[in-house]
Amino acid sequence: MKRNERYKGGENFNLRDVLLKGRKLTLVDRANYFSRFLGVETATHHSLYMRPLASASDREVEIIDPVTGKPKKMLMFGSNNYLGLANHPCVREQVFKAINKYGVGIGGPPLLNGYTNLHCELEERLSAFKHAEDTLIFSTGYGANVGLLTGLVNGSDVVLYDEYSHASFCDGLAMGGKNSLRFHHNDLDELAVLLDEHPASSAGDTFVGVEGVYSMDGDLTPLDKIVPLCKKHGAILIVDDAHGTGVMGKSGRGTAEHFGVEEMVDVTMGTFSKTFAVVGGFVSASKPFIDYLRFFARSYMFSASLPPVIIATVLAGLDVIEREPERLEQLRDNVHSAAEGLQKLGLIVHPQAAIIALRVPRTMNIRQAGYRFHEAGIFVNSIEYPAVPINQQRFRISIMATHTREDINRLLECVEDVWSRFSQQEKMVRSQAA
Ligand code: PMP
Repeated sequence: MKRNERYKGGENFNLRDVLLKGRKLTLVDRANYFSRFLGVETATHHSLYMRPLASASDREVEIIDPVTGKPKKMLMFGSNNYLGLANHPCVREQVFKAINKYGVGIGGPPLLNGYTNLHCELEERLSAFKHAEDTLIFSTGYGANVGLLTGLVNGSDVVLYDEYSHASFCDGLAMGGKNSLRFHHNDLDELAVLLDEHPASSAGDTFVGVEGVYSMDGDLTPLDKIVPLCKKHGAILIVDDAHGTGVMGKSGRGTAEHFGVEEMVDVTMGTFSKTFAVVGGFVSASKPFIDYLRFFARSYMFSASLPPVIIATVLAGLDVIEREPERLEQLRDNVHSAAEGLQKLGLIVHPQAAIIALRVPRTMNIRQAGYRFHEAGIFVNSIEYPAVPINQQRFRISIMATHTREDINRLLECVEDVWSRFSQQEKMVRSQAA
């Protein structure tokens, strides 16, 4: 490619093509090429990234439309605010109380001045919630994964992990330069072979990393089978339950509760950015593991604490989860109705949590289709490469307990409209090719 080559745009041209083209360019040329890509894409397909929200995050939101510049009401099907806690009156009340008492922040890391009695209380509440001995709170879920992998895993250990693990898990492994091997998604036969080949020994531990609910597909890890497999091989099991916490299990305690294996998971990681709808992460495990992490997880030690106002939000969210179990029932009913409606439209979806992944047909231009959802006032997220492999792009629909039956019906009508247009497009391309 020539220096300063102009990006001309094209059907389904995507970030992967930009990355490939940019490989041999200097940073300045690469960045300029990327700016032109963004400019052309925005002009032709109306980029929907970073639509500014101008209201609370609720079942209905107001955004500033990036195309017209005007306020627009949309039904929110793109937020991980699964139980609708982001704008719950009791949560808001607790937050105001926390601000009145603690102000807005503490300005320091937890090991120095950044630890309040609220932090201590939340560690205890989360330990009880996850049936673990102790808990450590991180400033982000990303930092929790990075901290636990760099902090707990040694150079002589090996980590076996599912290929669909979140970027924060992979980055934690890469940062620590850990020995690691990926197994195919939910392929327990392959995991068993790898465990045979890499037995835990006095020379090094074997860790297994999985997600309770996979973030991009919404399917579960079969923890009821993975737990005995790990026990048999003496492996330490890490479960990232970012999307299972508050959603799975009879009381919302997570995927381990759903499978009846609480207390048998060695390390559970979770976030405050999904069900609790704020920011932050945590790791629950045995007391010695947590004591160790407190001093060896660098993303904990060298990063400022979450402000008390966030901690108060999560504490209030736990209260609501305990006091209003009907929210979880409503969430499950809504997921069921949405899935049933989508199946009636002929789409293959089998949601097991609150996420529904709609894979786009081969020839569908995901940005054009995404724009139709936007025009119809339905906020869904387009998941493009590199978040997922190039042939697995999808719309990711997040269902909330607060959605009404009419909201779900509007979603279904819109999916039908978008799909009928794009399946026609697919048929046209096929007949042209024939
Ligand atoms: N793990 C999983 C499975 C996730 O989906 C996410 C967030 N998308 C994270 C970890 C990181 O969490 P956070 O956004 O709270 O930093």
